[in-house]
Amino acid sequence: MGSEAQELHFLLIPLMSQSHLLPFTDMAKRLAEHGVSVTVVMTPLNALRYKYVLDHSRASGLVVHFLTLPFPCKEAGLPEGCENIDSLPSSDLVTAFFDASNMLQEPISKHLEAMEDKPSCIITDICFPWTTDVALKFGLPRIAFHTTSCFTLLCSHSITRSKVMERVKGDDEPFVVPGLPDKVEFTKAQMPQMMKDGPDDLENLLVKLKAAELSADGVLVNSFEELEKNYVKGYQKVVKKLWCIGPLSLSPAVGSAKLDRGNNSSIDPNQCQDWLDSKDPNSVLYVCFGSLCHVSAPQLVELALGLEASRRCFMWVIRKGDSTQELEKWLLEYGFEDKTAGRALIIRGWAPQVMILSHPSVGGFVTHCGWNSTLEAVSAGVPMITWPMFAEQFYNEKLIAEVLRIGVSIGVRRPVEWVEEEKGGVMVSREAVQRAIGRLMDEGEESAERRRRAKELGKAARRAVQKNGSSYFNMTLMIHYVRQASTRKRSVITLTRH
Ligand code: UDP
Repeated sequence: MGSEAQELHFLLIPLMSQSHLLPFTDMAKRLAEHGVSVTVVMTPLNALRYKYVLDHSRASGLVVHFLTLPFPCKEAGLPEGCENIDSLPSSDLVTAFFDASNMLQEPISKHLEAMEDKPSCIITDICFPWTTDVALKFGLPRIAFHTTSCFTLLCSHSITRSKVMERVKGDDEPFVVPGLPDKVEFTKAQMPQMMKDGPDDLENLLVKLKAAELSADGVLVNSFEELEKNYVKGYQKVVKKLWCIGPLSLSPAVGSAKLDRGNNSSIDPNQCQDWLDSKDPNSVLYVCFGSLCHVSAPQLVELALGLEASRRCFMWVIRKGDSTQELEKWLLEYGFEDKTAGRALIIRGWAPQVMILSHPSVGGFVTHCGWNSTLEAVSAGVPMITWPMFAEQFYNEKLIAEVLRIGVSIGVRRPVEWVEEEKGGVMVSREAVQRAIGRLMDEGEESAERRRRAKELGKAARRAVQKNGSSYFNMTLMIHYVRQASTRKRSVITLTRH
């Protein structure tokens, strides 16, 4: 146990979504390794899903607890049991989900009120501006946690501040993001909805989120300095304090949880491992679009045809909700699994992604560019085919394909609209899939260079989380900061009592 951290207690408040709960629980274990005692706010169903975090922590002698609070589904108009964004039946319910999440303010405040020994600080999801009031009420330092890169943060900060989009004519006219270390271009169409001329309530939310971030005592980012040095430096000037502490999925304490991270694996891990073992190094393409994206059946058919035409080995994860009757009927009638037998493995449901990406046979990743997936691929030294769908995924694509040059863009120009999904729109053709796979996986000099860069970054990622690596050191600095803040607070209390 680090003596610096003794007696410190951190309360973590994540958004109930896989891409937030995974890094939050990884961070909880990492903090506990530094000797801090940690409590993570959970809801009953998420606590069940993430029970392995408690089991592994206990087995390793780490102090991690859950504070399990009921999730107000009914009050917010959500179906019973919708405690995680991945269980929402429709995107129309996202606002209700955030309403329910915001209602957690009261029970969290009540819990803090009842605590004799208050926590030393709260680490809050950036999505919850109300934690500012909670921290003020109880005189606690508040640290905001971003589950994205400094590249994304700096891009979005520069775009908002410079108002560059006001000078852009149409949705498809490219503009350069001002003040960045590299020339980075986007179109308005690719911006997250909140950044465009959205409805007033979305704009107001953006203002609130920004204010909560700027007023936080400091900001934690799941990234590492060596990955995006200039963007880290740039973002350091925006916030009070910045600590990059990732990749959190690489923590030694995460190692034992590689198989069932966030959900039970839908495939027997031994079968998965044996299949990968039977393939040549760098020969397998892993295809997975994260925990949230819905991909229409016609688009999945197009992807399947591109995969078939590529003649490469591939492991394809089809999300539970996407494995529709329409798709399954096509797969059967076309004889897809027979035609690709021996070189394809389809996983329907949840895959042990971190374990798969770290297998030496995996040589490429077709990704929707969610930040966790991106960072997991970087950590494993695997180059990517970028297929962004929405939100900040277009920023991540730029970082992967143009700044770090460890990926090939599949050529998506616009985010997928829910309506388009419903209509079964196809945005990426089988030819585009086949072309991108060819470029990523061929034996040419360009792909060898790309692979070499990806492997180097993977090594840098592993060094960053080791003792005395940059992320390890930043975690120590952040804990030191909280210790000083709580010592100051204690002396003020003692002085006031006298
Ligand atoms: N994930 C997984 N198995 C799956 C699908 C996703 O383990 O079958 C994990 C993945 O490793 C990552 C997270 O879920 O940690 C997805 O987060 P990301 O930010 O990439 O995307 P999002 O789900 O927010 O779209």
